[in-house]
Amino acid sequence: MRILVTNDDGIYAEGIKHLREALGELGEVIVVAPDRERSATGHSITMDRPLRAKEVVFKDGFKSYAVDGTPADCVKLAFDALLQPRPDIVVSGINHGPNMGTDVLYSGTVSAAIEGMIYGVPAIAVSTASYENPNYRGAALMAQRLVREVMDHQGLPPATLLNVNVPDVDLTELKGVAITRLGSRRYENIFDKRTDPRGRTYYWLAGEIVEDDSEPDTDVAAIRRNEVSVTPIHFDLTDYKLLEQIRGWQLNLCKPGKFC
Ligand code: MN
Repeated sequence: MRILVTNDDGIYAEGIKHLREALGELGEVIVVAPDRERSATGHSITMDRPLRAKEVVFKDGFKSYAVDGTPADCVKLAFDALLQPRPDIVVSGINHGPNMGTDVLYSGTVSAAIEGMIYGVPAIAVSTASYENPNYRGAALMAQRLVREVMDHQGLPPATLLNVNVPDVDLTELKGVAITRLGSRRYENIFDKRTDPRGRTYYWLAGEIVEDDSEPDTDVAAIRRNEVSVTPIHFDLTDYKLLEQIRGWQLNLCKPGKFC
C-alpha cells in the first residue's frame, strides 16, 4: 500500500513526523507537502505561476517533496506528476489545531483530503483539537487505526472522506471514539483597525470562536467529552430539500430571454 501524507502546516511540521512514523508500519509512506505553512488556504490552487517540488531528505534518511504551493497543489502534483504508481490513500495532517464545523471549509488540511477524494482514493484528514497541547501521538495512532479499517472495508464510498479530530488529553484519558456530524463552530469576527507607520489604515482579522455544543452528536461536543471525533464528509454540497422547493419558484422562461 502506498500512502500519500500531506498537510497545511508545512513539511517540517511535527504532525507530519508523527504521521509518517505511525503509517510507515502499514505501508510505503510518501510525503508531498507545502514548503511553508499554508493553513486556512482552503482548496485554492496555483495557476498563475509554475510550481516547484524540491526533494527534502529528513535526518533519518526519509525522502519527501516540498512544494511551493497549497495543500491541494501538493496532492494534484503528487498524483499527476511526482508519484508513479499513484498512492492508494491520502492522509492529511496531523493539523496543529482543530478542524470542526465550518472550519472544514477554510481548512487546507481538509482540502488536501478532498483533493485525494477527487482523484478517487480514500482520504482522511486528521487534526489535534488543541493549539496549546496537541496530542500528536494519539492522533497518529488514530490515523493508523482508521487507515487499517478503511482498507479492510475496501475504501470509502465515492465522494466521501473522514474528518478526524483528537482531543488534547493523554491517551489514557481518552474517553472513546465518537462518530459525529459537523457541529456549529463559527467565529465572532472582529477586524482590528490599526494604522501602519506610514499613517495608512489596515485591518487584522481577530475575534473569538463561538461553539454550539448543545447537540451531543456533533464533532464539537465529542471533543468536549474528550472523545476522538470521526465525521464522514460528503463532497456533494447540493441541498436536495431546497432543490425540490425552488422547483416551485417562478423561474421559467416563456420564450428565450423573457420570464413568464
Ligand atoms: Mn494548519
